[in-house]
Amino acid sequence: ADSDRSGDRQVAVSVQSASKVFGAGASAFTALNDVSVDIADNEFFTLLGPSGCGKTTLLRLIAGFEEPTSGRILLNGTDISALPPFKRPVNTVFQNYALFPHMTVAQNIGFGLEMQKRPKAEIDATVSEMLALVQMTQMAGRKITEISGGQQQRVALARALAPRPKVLLLDEPLSALDLQLRKDMQIELKRLQTETGITFVFVTHDQEEALTMSDRIAVMQAGNILQIGDPREIYEHPAHRFVAGFIGEINLLEAEAQSDGAFRVGQTGSLRAAEASAGQPATLAIRPERIVLSPGGTGGLPGTITNVVYHGTDTIVHFALPGGTAMKARLQNTSSAPLPFATGDAVAWSADPRSVSVLEG
Ligand code: ATP
Repeated sequence: ADSDRSGDRQVAVSVQSASKVFGAGASAFTALNDVSVDIADNEFFTLLGPSGCGKTTLLRLIAGFEEPTSGRILLNGTDISALPPFKRPVNTVFQNYALFPHMTVAQNIGFGLEMQKRPKAEIDATVSEMLALVQMTQMAGRKITEISGGQQQRVALARALAPRPKVLLLDEPLSALDLQLRKDMQIELKRLQTETGITFVFVTHDQEEALTMSDRIAVMQAGNILQIGDPREIYEHPAHRFVAGFIGEINLLEAEAQSDGAFRVGQTGSLRAAEASAGQPATLAIRPERIVLSPGGTGGLPGTITNVVYHGTDTIVHFALPGGTAMKARLQNTSSAPLPFATGDAVAWSADPRSVSVLEG
């Protein structure tokens, strides 16, 4: 499937074969390895990956805090590789907010505009607008030390949005917030992005956060982008073993492609997948909630239940294939009655071919 869906929209940021090597000689370290991505205008684009995979480095290249070792960065079609950060129509929200503690909320928001020597009337109007946008009008006169962490986060956002950058870069901006506030801010950030129409490039290692907010996600590992797609594609059709395992839970099955297009799973039967085999042998990936279980031994491939764990809204049924492979099915508890599965039972399992992905890597 074509995963590059920046589509018909104009490209805001184009990263072209960008590499970043820190250090030299024996201590050289490749933080980014020939990365290319087009981020569309008005897009909420997320860089997702584990610690150290190069997300921040890529963000810093776009911001201009780092220079690529090779490759280039275009903004609205113009090569900005040589422009210093303050000349780029790009702003950054950092993890630690970096607000000025001795200034008021309003002064912090107006700071960037003051630096640009905009007329006072314009600054006042924009500050009022930004205060309203982040719902901080009542607190305009407070010092930063007099507001909560969540409110500081909003001020940091308003300050970064005030000069109306073409692109806003956000480096794990919610990581310091507690869970509930973080969930609220996820919705809030998405609303701000939609209302302002500014392109957001958002860095996170939290897969749920990425799925909740993004138009598209680039999943990174060890300096590479492994897959780019919208949240549904990334979750439902991971193309890569790492992507499958990093985002949500998944069952992985070693299988052999057959000439009829199906995949043989051990000696026990075969499964059809969303696509034909990418090679021999193939790894199949199936989300636990996509597995269909039937009590008894018929109506699918055989398995034996090893554990049943009730979770309120759903029940996780652990089962083993005849070869020993451990599998998990997540079943919705649609009534208050227990599901007809118990440890030790024989079970038959299957999955809709559209829910079976064939992995690379
Ligand atoms: P995290 O989520 O932990 O911030 P990340 O994905 O943002 O991780 P980066 O900060 O981009 O990762 O770092 C990628 C790799 O490059 C890391 O292994 C890091 O140690 C290395 N690195 C980053 N900056 C430098 C530097 N200035 N000199 C040497 N190595 C660096």
